[in-house]
Amino acid sequence: MQSQNALNLQQFRAGELIFSAGDIPDCAYIIESGEIEIISVESDQPINVLGPGNLLGEMGVVDSLPRTTTAKARTAVSLLVIDRNQITERIARTDPIVRALVEVLLHRFRLLLPGEAPRELPKHLGPDRLVSELGLNKFKLENALRQAIEQGQVQTVFQPIHTLRDRRIAGYEALSRWSRPDGEVISPDEFIALAEETDLILEVGYLSFQRACELLQQIQRDQFVSINVSVRQLDCDEFLNRVVELLHRHDIDTSRIKLEITETMILDAQRAKAWIKRCHEIGFSVCADDFGTGYSGLVQLSELDYDFIKIDKKLIENLHRNARTAIILKGVVEMARALNLKLVAEGVENNRQLETLKTLGVDYGQGFHFGRPVSLQSISS
Ligand code: C2E
Ligand code: CA
Ligand code: CA
Repeated sequence: MQSQNALNLQQFRAGELIFSAGDIPDCAYIIESGEIEIISVESDQPINVLGPGNLLGEMGVVDSLPRTTTAKARTAVSLLVIDRNQITERIARTDPIVRALVEVLLHRFRLLLPGEAPRELPKHLGPDRLVSELGLNKFKLENALRQAIEQGQVQTVFQPIHTLRDRRIAGYEALSRWSRPDGEVISPDEFIALAEETDLILEVGYLSFQRACELLQQIQRDQFVSINVSVRQLDCDEFLNRVVELLHRHDIDTSRIKLEITETMILDAQRAKAWIKRCHEIGFSVCADDFGTGYSGLVQLSELDYDFIKIDKKLIENLHRNARTAIILKGVVEMARALNLKLVAEGVENNRQLETLKTLGVDYGQGFHFGRPVSLQSISS
């Protein structure tokens, strides 16, 4: 090797050895210029020639096993060195299923290499661990969810949202439930996250709009339904068009629907602005859900055109436990007023919280104190 510069480029002369079979790898390379021969241990003959843009030596970095081939510069070459940590940190951060798949594939590939001794699958990739610990059971759950949607096991319950001034039911929040035939109810915290990893969230989301339509036809015309939406739904024009078509078919005024967006969904303000613009064009109002739980809530409020803010239940829970919370809420109320935003407090569990929130000037309340989420049938009856 001739030199290594700040960009982590290494230069080799023609004929120079880059690494040998059996070496313990600490880096991989991308070929910047020149050509490299890959030589098999068995034949001592080049089995491949790699040129600019090719990746080299990544295998052992991923599974921490010795190099299986030797690499030699065929011409003068310049290589970009990728440090082991640059690769392993990314692998560690990736979806556990993708990580397990890469490791299993690499193991299978090694078994096909000439001269490689058969090796057992590493313990952490054994059949029981793969399913239980590496998340392959997600596939099982995903299939079960798909079937549950088809069989109508995913239901929607509705929790009332009251005006605090006169304790009238102003509307309802739609919340999804997965009820298994054996009676087990799977929490949305578990299956919504799973649905969000695939397009299944579009199906779950559409069901909520269908049930919301049924409810809106039953309740008073000045009452609304608030629906939680996910990134994939807002990104999908076809989904939104289907929803608009559904609402028109049921003769539902779109202004009776609020969409709840959590701040963790927003990674890119421009994209979020486009979502909110589209929602407003349709006629939906938009609510910032779980307000006060993240770190960028205020920044988002300064940039995004919300209509409602839903104060997270954690702040309501702390209201009488910690004097600072009331001061913060007072500030939130003032800010909301100045910005012409309506405020909803969620997780209201007792009369004391209700009275304080009312005195502070919060517009709406939702929580066990007013009512738990209930089925559509029990609202109409
Ligand atoms: P969220 O939007 O913050 O919904 C409020 C959660 O608080 C609901 O939990 C509700 O049952 C619960 N809750 C209501 N009142 C009280 C109270 O007084 N005290 C306490 N401690 N909790 C109360 P749930 O139904 O388990 O939903 C969990 C989360 O799952 C929701 O949080 C929402 O983010 C998500 N979710 C539910 N359904 C859907 C859906 O159809 N689509 C999407 N994208 N997300 C959904
Ligand atoms: Ca919500
Ligand atoms: Ca919430």
